[in-house]
Amino acid sequence: MSSTTILGFAAKKPEAVLEPFRYELPDFKEHDVRIDITHCGVCYTDIQGIEDYYGITSFPFVPGHEIVGNVTAVGKEVRDLRIGDRVGVGWQGRSCMQCQWCLQGKEHLCDDIDHCATWDPYGGFSSSIIVDSRFAYLLPDGMPSEYAAVLMCAGVSVYSPLKRYAPAGGLKVGVFGVGGLGHLAIQFAHAMGNHVTALSSSPSKEKEALGFGADLFIPVIAESSLQEAWGSFDLLLYTSHGTADWTSLLNCLKTGGRIVVIGFSDDPVKFEPLELVVNQLSISGSLVGSRAVMREMLQFAQHHDITPAVELMPMSRVNDAIQKLKMNKARYRIVLVRD
Ligand SMILES: [Zn+2]
Ligand SMILES: [Zn+2]
Repeated sequence: MSSTTILGFAAKKPEAVLEPFRYELPDFKEHDVRIDITHCGVCYTDIQGIEDYYGITSFPFVPGHEIVGNVTAVGKEVRDLRIGDRVGVGWQGRSCMQCQWCLQGKEHLCDDIDHCATWDPYGGFSSSIIVDSRFAYLLPDGMPSEYAAVLMCAGVSVYSPLKRYAPAGGLKVGVFGVGGLGHLAIQFAHAMGNHVTALSSSPSKEKEALGFGADLFIPVIAESSLQEAWGSFDLLLYTSHGTADWTSLLNCLKTGGRIVVIGFSDDPVKFEPLELVVNQLSISGSLVGSRAVMREMLQFAQHHDITPAVELMPMSRVNDAIQKLKMNKARYRIVLVRD
């Protein structure tokens, strides 16, 4: 039996650097599994958690929610997982299982979503974690653990809206932002058979974006840059954490087109409502995905060889990884490997 003392990396207060942090195994419920972690991706949401951007972080805070590891203990009601299974866990580690959304199989919209995060009480920058087994996913054989880690949050976050709005292919899809989310959005949208345009403020990413499957690359370096794309997209995924001129983005949509917000910054979104009305445009948000969508995404990724671009770093260098992500220097996702 593994130790009940867990070693993680925690921020003791908002915006603090992470420090080694020992804590006792949280309460283990009948549906729970314990997972000994081998890999954990670093997502921008981890940084926002450390900053208490959402106002719900409790400190000490152990971030990390792109987790892969092996099951080392199971509660007595666990049906689908066994000790030794290799599993992935994303941002959501549990849900109430009884609200209207959970009963419809849309657990990611749970009425109690504020308390469903995997990092509550402690997340994946750690030796082990306890989550509800119904939110731990068996990984396809042969899928590298560092790829699976990235798919658990970034992957499902882009797959879910593409599945909702562009599953049959044949659409013109724009991906604004070519980073951790965007580079996967390009791959998934392309694999679904859509024509994909990558839009990035980093012209140096052109070659890689085309390599991920983009048909076209537009560097967004001036306000006029987007004119080239006016009227072209059925769907535009906003995956950036930077700012944008929203009127220009709306101008890029075809009549009836839609922008889906997945990444976001502090800056308020500004545009004239008339822009939406005249061409019947929509702007909507998307949060991770349900359990069913997560399973489907893993199969799709395996079948279509979706290949996250990862940079491996030892977990003990977690602060270096966070700095790199903050400085927009990660290409494209950093995955921590437990050392
Ligand atoms: Zn995430
Ligand atoms: Zn619920």
